Amino acid sequence: MERNTRQRQAVLDAIDRAGRALTPSEILALAQASVASLNLSTIYRHLHALQDDARITKVMLPGQAARFEAACAGDHHEVAHHHHHFHCSACDRVYALHACPGSMQELAPEGFVVRAHEITLRGLCAECAA
Ligand SMILES: [Zn+2]
Ligand SMILES: [Zn+2]
Repeated sequence: MERNTRQRQAVLDAIDRAGRALTPSEILALAQASVASLNLSTIYRHLHALQDDARITKVMLPGQAARFEAACAGDHHEVAHHHHHFHCSACDRVYALHACPGSMQELAPEGFVVRAHEITLRGLCAECAA
């Protein structure tokens, strides 16, 4: 396999296997185990290409650096699948939550129309809470 392809596959595998949203440095640490030639600037290049191919999506939480997670099956054609995240305040890991409380239209004042919402749960992941 071509070096570039091997690197890109290692980046994708790291994100797929983690099952959570990773920062570029977390991705580097995981992917370097299989492809030692990777560094942070090549990681960024592969992350851009994988986003263009809709294989991964960028996760932006308020006050946080960008993280990346595997795209869901339905992401290839439409806008990214709507979901939320849990940010562990002890280990700083971010997990996708595949649930949504709904539009929350009832929280908005009379006459207002809710079109979108962003929710981030914060607390301790199972590992840190144990
Ligand atoms: Zn944790
Ligand atoms: Zn939602």
